[in-house]
Amino acid sequence: MAGNITFTMIKPKAVENGHIGNILAKVIEGGFKIKAMKYLRLTKEQAMEFYAVHKERPFYDELTDFMSSGPIVAAILEKENAVEDYRKLIGATNPAEAAEGTIRKLYATDIQANAVHGSDSDENAQIESNFFFSKLERF
Ligand code: ATP
Ligand code: MG
Repeated sequence: MAGNITFTMIKPKAVENGHIGNILAKVIEGGFKIKAMKYLRLTKEQAMEFYAVHKERPFYDELTDFMSSGPIVAAILEKENAVEDYRKLIGATNPAEAAEGTIRKLYATDIQANAVHGSDSDENAQIESNFFFSKLERF
């Protein structure tokens, strides 16, 4: 059975470009409930740990520099079939390929600064949520 939570981040460039409010509006209109949320800046080391699955990829160093370059919004979202439905709402990794009306189509600038992160499995949704939030921070 599909899990009912996913984890998201609004990435530094989308924060810098003033899109926090519009992105959160799309998330809520999309039927997701906010279970936890915080505004913080990752250190380079924390970004490397979060993205450790990508450590062999050529873009790992640049990605973790970018993700630690400024504040982000991190959140746990709840909805039935959350992981899959959220990836539909955000659109393809490369905003040039993202469907009309998706968050990445609307608010991303390029494949790296693609506005938001979304978990890719129920298991990773749990791991990523636990990376950022304690039990006391979830509602
Ligand atoms: P995310 O995990 O952030 O939700 P995703 O699952 O759509 O994105 P992944 O393949 O997991 O995509 O890549 C993680 C992140 O690495 C991407 O969101 C993007 O910021 C960056 N990235 C992916 N591919 C490239 C690339 N070819 N060049 C530069 N950065 C990339
Ligand atoms: Mg991913």
